[in-house]
Amino acid sequence: MALLTLVGAEASFQRSFERLFQLFFEEGTIVLSASPEFADDGLTLIFEKKVVGGEPCLQGTLYDGKKKVDSETSDFFPEEQHQGAALKRLMSQLIVKLLERYTGWSQPWGILTGVRPTKLYHSMRRQGMTDSEIKQKLMDEYMVQQDKAELLSQIVGRQLSVVPDLDTLQQEVSIYIGIPFCPTMCAYCTFPAYPINGKNGSVDEFLTGLHYEMEKVGGWLTANDIRVTTIYFGGGTPTSITAEQMDALYEKMHAVFPNTAGVRELTVEAGRPDTITKEKIAVLKKWNVDRISVNPQSFTNETLKAIGRHHSVEETVDKYRLAYESGLTNINMDLIIGLPGEGAAEFTHSLNVTEKLRPASLTVHTLSYKRASPMTKYKEKYKVADREEIHQMMEQARAWMEEHGYVPYYLYRQKNILGNLENIGYALPGQESIYNMMIMEEVQTVIGLGCGASSKWVDPKTGNIDRFANPKDPRSYADRYEEYTERKIQVLNELFA
Ligand code: SF4
Repeated sequence: MALLTLVGAEASFQRSFERLFQLFFEEGTIVLSASPEFADDGLTLIFEKKVVGGEPCLQGTLYDGKKKVDSETSDFFPEEQHQGAALKRLMSQLIVKLLERYTGWSQPWGILTGVRPTKLYHSMRRQGMTDSEIKQKLMDEYMVQQDKAELLSQIVGRQLSVVPDLDTLQQEVSIYIGIPFCPTMCAYCTFPAYPINGKNGSVDEFLTGLHYEMEKVGGWLTANDIRVTTIYFGGGTPTSITAEQMDALYEKMHAVFPNTAGVRELTVEAGRPDTITKEKIAVLKKWNVDRISVNPQSFTNETLKAIGRHHSVEETVDKYRLAYESGLTNINMDLIIGLPGEGAAEFTHSLNVTEKLRPASLTVHTLSYKRASPMTKYKEKYKVADREEIHQMMEQARAWMEEHGYVPYYLYRQKNILGNLENIGYALPGQESIYNMMIMEEVQTVIGLGCGASSKWVDPKTGNIDRFANPKDPRSYADRYEEYTERKIQVLNELFA
């Protein structure tokens, strides 16, 4: 495991600095020391205040074992009253610059970790900064590369043209409904998903709880005259339940939620093509679902088999066409860069097949190793492309999207993402998902109903954010949904008092 000893850094910065170190050394740890202790097999970085040309500055010197390898100097030292945040930023910059040179890896997002880049952009915009001022600040202070700063600017511009009232939606809410079942489990999954025929509680019990939650929360929204901006069914795979169960669920939704005709967007993930049937499509159409997803992840059968998807490429294409020809034309597809055994050739193949389908939107994920997924546990078994190839595929995706008229409209990063890259939602203009923007930009409360659904409380007065998660597994949910619903209503009363 890689170790970096930092000399001269404050203890309160340790966690942030460790996240930066892990951009280069996945499992790396940081220790702080008051005096240099050069470990034989570790790195040491010494921070010192210096005076260069009569000006105070901060110098960082990097040692590999006992051998000095490099040093870097800032061009100023923060004044006394700004030392907390400014000093932390200077030290972050020195850490990243020195490690970039040491490893030969450049970091496209500079020192940005643990923060949503588009959210940061929006907050600077709301403070009155212009587009060019924001981009400059991102590049100068956060070391974000120019192409990423341009990407953020493009995404924010797109969001504001799709949702011009983005800054004033605090008094409305969106609703997320989690259906925790899937036909089988995929190898990289850490979502709240359980095999539908497994031993984790029955679908009927779960649905009884969900109907209860919808009634109570819908009743509260109606009584308090709160509008619903978007509704999103996710999971799991919401289409893994039967057509009859889906029908009853959407009927309930329309009966208990206020003014469903005024909801801007209703999405149902139908991610696993093996769950899609003519009957279920008819139900989605009957209840005017605006948007669905049919997720190929890859268009190579061997890959699908390796990751445990249990459906074929042919089935994805067939089910996509079935949905599209039935009139469900706003279909999202997810592609993942860096799946086991996949390189640029397989990704090119996936893009070539996508070209024939032309879905309304495409979300390009970069594989991330999530702690709990089987893929992480058995990492040696799953061979993935190297960093350069991952970057190459990301660029390939960007160029392909541009060439085919898709525009980026949301972006998020995850921990342990390959190549320290990002996930990007692209859409043909006018086909963007409003829910995705609501959840990413955290402009309003999202109420989570169902299994594993996380409610995100955004205080309409202060913008402060809090979270509250429902039980993940269907059995615990079935035991405790009344108590969880009660707690949610209490929070809503406080938020919208
Ligand atoms: S379809 Fe999605 S939610 Fe279901 S097991 Fe696969 S990754 Fe998990």
